[in-house]
Amino acid sequence: MGFRHHQTPQNQQQEQNFFYSFSLIFLIIWQRKYEIHFLFSINLSFNGNINYILDMKYKYCYRCGALTKIIEIDGRRRSFCSNCNLVLYENPIPSVAILSMNDKKEILLVRRSVEPGKGEWSLPGGFIEMGETPVEAAIRELYEETGLQGKNPELVNVDTHLNGFYGDVLLIAYSVELDSYNITPGDDVSEGMFFKFNGRPRLVFKIHENFLVRWAKEKQLTAD
Ligand SMILES: [Zn+2]
Repeated sequence: MGFRHHQTPQNQQQEQNFFYSFSLIFLIIWQRKYEIHFLFSINLSFNGNINYILDMKYKYCYRCGALTKIIEIDGRRRSFCSNCNLVLYENPIPSVAILSMNDKKEILLVRRSVEPGKGEWSLPGGFIEMGETPVEAAIRELYEETGLQGKNPELVNVDTHLNGFYGDVLLIAYSVELDSYNITPGDDVSEGMFFKFNGRPRLVFKIHENFLVRWAKEKQLTAD
C-alpha cells in the first residue's frame, strides 16, 4: 500500500500549528536577543536616561548626535546609533607611564598637582595624543612633567587599569635613559624627585606600583 498524503482539513490544521509553534520559537529567540534592549527601553520611559543608569559612555552618537540605544553584541551591552547604523564601542584609552632612574639607581617619581591622585606620587606619564606613537607620547610626557629628556626607550609592560577617574585606561610603560637629573616640574606636577626603591613613597595608582615593582626587581633596584 502506497503512502498517500491527503491534504485533509486535519492535516492542514497540523501544518498550520507547526508553522505557528515554529514562528513562536523564532519569535522567542529573536526577542531574547533584544530582551536587554527591550527591558532597558522600558527603563527609559521610567527614568528618562538609561545610559546614566547603566553608566554607558555614549548616551548620544558621536557622529550624528542622536540618542543611542543599547543592544547586546558579543555578550556585551553596547551603545548603538540607529541613524548611522553604528556600534559605539567603548575601549580603554591608550596612555603611557615612564620608568627611569638616575646614576645612583634612584627612581624618578612625580607628585601630582591635579586629580586623580592630587598631592600623591606617581610615575610620570599621560594620554597618547592623536598622531603620536606611544614612544613619542612617553618622551613628551616625561619632558612636560619633569623637563628631562628621555632616550633609548624600551617597552617594559602593558596592562589595563579599569574604572578609574578617566574610565578604562590601557597603560603602556617604557623605561628611558636620562641625560640629566635636573628636574623642572611642569604640567600637572608640583615636584619631581629621585627615590631609592625602598625609601620611595607608595604610588597612588596600583598599576604604576605594579609596573614599578616588577621593573625594579628586573633592574635589581630592590636590594638597597
Ligand atoms: Zn549616529
